[in-house]
Amino acid sequence: MKACYPGTFDPITKGHLDIIERAASIFDEVDVLLMVNPRKKCVFNAEERKQMIEASLEGIGCDNVHVVIGSGLTVDFARKLGAKAIVRGIRAVTDYEYELQQATANLMLAPEIETMFLIAKPEYSFLSSSVVKEIALNDGDISSMVPAKTAELVKEKLKGNSDALK
Ligand code: ADP
Repeated sequence: MKACYPGTFDPITKGHLDIIERAASIFDEVDVLLMVNPRKKCVFNAEERKQMIEASLEGIGCDNVHVVIGSGLTVDFARKLGAKAIVRGIRAVTDYEYELQQATANLMLAPEIETMFLIAKPEYSFLSSSVVKEIALNDGDISSMVPAKTAELVKEKLKGNSDALK
């Protein structure tokens, strides 16, 4: 059975990567679905985000994971990919409210696709792409938060560049 894991991944973090690994051990195939939303301002363009995810995957050796760039409704894209499940991660109660709303809307639009939640590992439960960007901007150490190649690119793009986060 195929699942997709949609998200913005601006940039991918070790928390995302952990969800991908765990999903890949449950499902036959996992498509990481990098959703492009023109109303959401990102620091990295879609191709850069895709490359960072792919570089991170090399380190974990999950042959059944692929990265796909998509736009529009997640359920429409999930259908196109033949995914029977949408995987999402939950870090805290604050995530739950938003995720519940999205999952319920998706259930109404596509009742044949189940949303499945994996809870964040405790060591990643504070971790978000925004936290990583804020720390990198202020020249802090992000090496424990994002995969190695991602860390390099994030530092390169953000160090001292507060305009990038506006
Ligand atoms: P979106 O804009 O769709 O929320 P994100 O890239 O921020 O995209 O997150 C994608 C998914 O990964 C969401 O379900 C989010 O809750 C989950 N996620 C984000 N950070 C973590 C983490 N540290 N641990 C586990 N899941 C996470």
